[in-house]
Amino acid sequence: MSTNTPHQEPFASLSPAVMRASTVVFDSFEDFVQRKNRQPDGFSYGVTGTPTARLLEQKIAELENGRHCVITPSGAAALMTAVMGFVRGGDHLLVSAACYGSLKTFADKWLARMGVEVELYQPDIGAEIESLIKANTRMICMEAPGTVTMEMQDIPAIAAVARKRGVLTMLDNTWASPLGFKSLKHGVDLSIQAATKFFGGHSDVLMGCISMNDHGHYDILRETQSILGQQVSPEDCFLVLRGLETLKLRVEAQSASTIQIAHHLAQHPLVERLMYPPLESDPGHAIWKRDYKTNGCLFSMVLKPAPERAFHGFFDSLQHFVIGASWGGVHSLAAYYPAPLQADRPFPATDQPVVRLSIGLEDTAMLIADLDQALDAYGRAMAQG
Ligand SMILES: *Cc1c(COP(=O)(O)O)cnc(C)c1O
Repeated sequence: MSTNTPHQEPFASLSPAVMRASTVVFDSFEDFVQRKNRQPDGFSYGVTGTPTARLLEQKIAELENGRHCVITPSGAAALMTAVMGFVRGGDHLLVSAACYGSLKTFADKWLARMGVEVELYQPDIGAEIESLIKANTRMICMEAPGTVTMEMQDIPAIAAVARKRGVLTMLDNTWASPLGFKSLKHGVDLSIQAATKFFGGHSDVLMGCISMNDHGHYDILRETQSILGQQVSPEDCFLVLRGLETLKLRVEAQSASTIQIAHHLAQHPLVERLMYPPLESDPGHAIWKRDYKTNGCLFSMVLKPAPERAFHGFFDSLQHFVIGASWGGVHSLAAYYPAPLQADRPFPATDQPVVRLSIGLEDTAMLIADLDQALDAYGRAMAQG
């Protein structure tokens, strides 16, 4: 026998099995010929998934209160796969101006040139999105709070209008995770996570997922995922399965630390504005309070205007925050988004540079002290004019 089947002695462990395969082996000719009929759940070739991938998909679907889930090799891949599953030339696609950058670039540089009519809309549009819906509108892409500038969206209102008009909705729900916001319960068709963030939780794996209730959508997305070759390594599935074991504890602890740090920064004389819906001062606070159950671990701030040198001072004096993109892991991170990037966006939330912080599991007082001394360095550079 050429397959590597282990001993059939009884064995049980708390750890999920990491099952690798490009080739899936069939019992008979008939089985092989009929292999496509095993989709969307079964196994026919590595690219459609392994038992390790299915286990993770099942756990994520449960978390999302959904019936089905498709995992992808990154959060970005989940966004593109969701769109590619349903949108074709001639369709009209509505994308929030605060959606993830690579989704907007994909829409603009690829979809628009393949005959898709791409339209960006103001994130806080709410039910008025109905005025933008046309006969050929196929999908509405949402993200809340928005990437970098944290605009909230009235998801239930947009989802209700879309349902009524027969338009699909997808939400990038990474900031809240399903513990903070149940997209599918609020009427969204496709709930997307960058599993790279809270699910993985340790800044060492890239993954994405799309959860849903509709079996027809699942069928289409399984086919799209495998035709685009977007399968995930079982080792990476293992890491995310492990991450999920502590998801609730991490989200709670990071959420509690984040709100404390945000309150502290909100009082700081060098902080002009915090972009963080859990704060009462945030324009999205009312929606956050109505719909969301967690504070997240990510917020942005606009500092009092100063020469660029001051940002060097701030970032280079950080002792505990690491400088880097991404977020949601156990280590705190700081990232910088320059002014032109903000100002050139349609419906810009600010024309100033943005500093984005992801709060990890380090001691809160220590993180506050770190930010205070970095802001002191910012202030000194500012005073030098
Ligand atoms: C990081 C992120 C993504 C992309 O995820 P990757 O796994 O890094 O590709 C998409 N959406 C949001 C909101 C994110 O924060």
